[in-house]
Amino acid sequence: MLTVSGLKVHFPITKGVLFDRKVGAVRAVDGVDLTIPRGSTLGLVGESGCGKSTVGKAILRLVDITEGTVRWGDDELSSLQGNELRHARKRVQMIFQDPYASLNPRQNVSSILAEPIRTFASRHHGRGMSVDGRISELLDVVGLPQAAANRYPHEFSGGQRQRIGIARALAADPELIVADEPVSALDVSIQAQVLNLLSDLQRQFGLTYMVISHDLAVVRHVSDEVAVMYLGGIVERAPVKQLYGSPLHPYTLALMSAVPVPDPVIEDTRQRVVLAGDLPSPANPPSGCRFHTRCVYVQDRCSQEQPQLRDIGDGHQVACHFAESIADGIAAGTPVGVRQGPPLA
Ligand code: SF4
Repeated sequence: MLTVSGLKVHFPITKGVLFDRKVGAVRAVDGVDLTIPRGSTLGLVGESGCGKSTVGKAILRLVDITEGTVRWGDDELSSLQGNELRHARKRVQMIFQDPYASLNPRQNVSSILAEPIRTFASRHHGRGMSVDGRISELLDVVGLPQAAANRYPHEFSGGQRQRIGIARALAADPELIVADEPVSALDVSIQAQVLNLLSDLQRQFGLTYMVISHDLAVVRHVSDEVAVMYLGGIVERAPVKQLYGSPLHPYTLALMSAVPVPDPVIEDTRQRVVLAGDLPSPANPPSGCRFHTRCVYVQDRCSQEQPQLRDIGDGHQVACHFAESIADGIAAGTPVGVRQGPPLA
């Protein structure tokens, strides 16, 4: 199980020419708790700048953790250093958003895959498989022809490059994979193929995934549970059917309402929630509930008291003071996104 507790990643803001003076901090991640059981997938969604990619990078220790812990099995990843950290990285790998930018254009596929095999994958050497044999096996597993081994990244399409990125992650024999926007740089027609490949690999190798995306449809397709992030914190988390069937946090309601519905009649009549304003700066987040500057359900209490993520039943967690009232309003047919009648409190 992956367990993230109280995770904070703050980037210092400095000023001065000769002596950098810390004058503030960008609170990219500010108190995230989450767990992912082995063999399952957690989808992490939110708009650009909410901190979701930074959570992924912190799990892999690609950015410094300001506070909090990250545990994978018996390893506390957040406290490992040197060789111990390098060994732990074998178990936790990342698939990047832009497959072209993340592959060295001067290396052919064979060299790209050989590097992590030599660095990490002793199990395959242990069972007597050569590096070339393992490269051949990985190409098969991700659906690339054997001839791909001698070609360079620029000779492939976007979908094929992402398959190389997936093969590179698998080369280390990982148990947990953090996939950061794994299909957002791909054509829609290719996205489903790559997502299906990820699902097949999970079944085949018992992998655990964290899939980070701004696209709710992508996350729905691959996840067992979904967590919604806003301005450095998780505002709602639930099993996938529950989150998409009955979202409760006003931010999630707004995200859901932006997803097009393929039925023209429903699409024409349904109510859209348009969020007012931009995402506030994580260097100076609003007081109380961080969403209160854009929330259509806002009350006086919201700007003073920060709501905690709390379980409202069946594993559905929401960080909103008025989640139950909003649920009642939706059940009674109150149009989503329009505050009507007396205060909800
Ligand atoms: Fe909106 Fe208040 Fe709930 Fe925050 S706590 S989401 S501002 S209703």
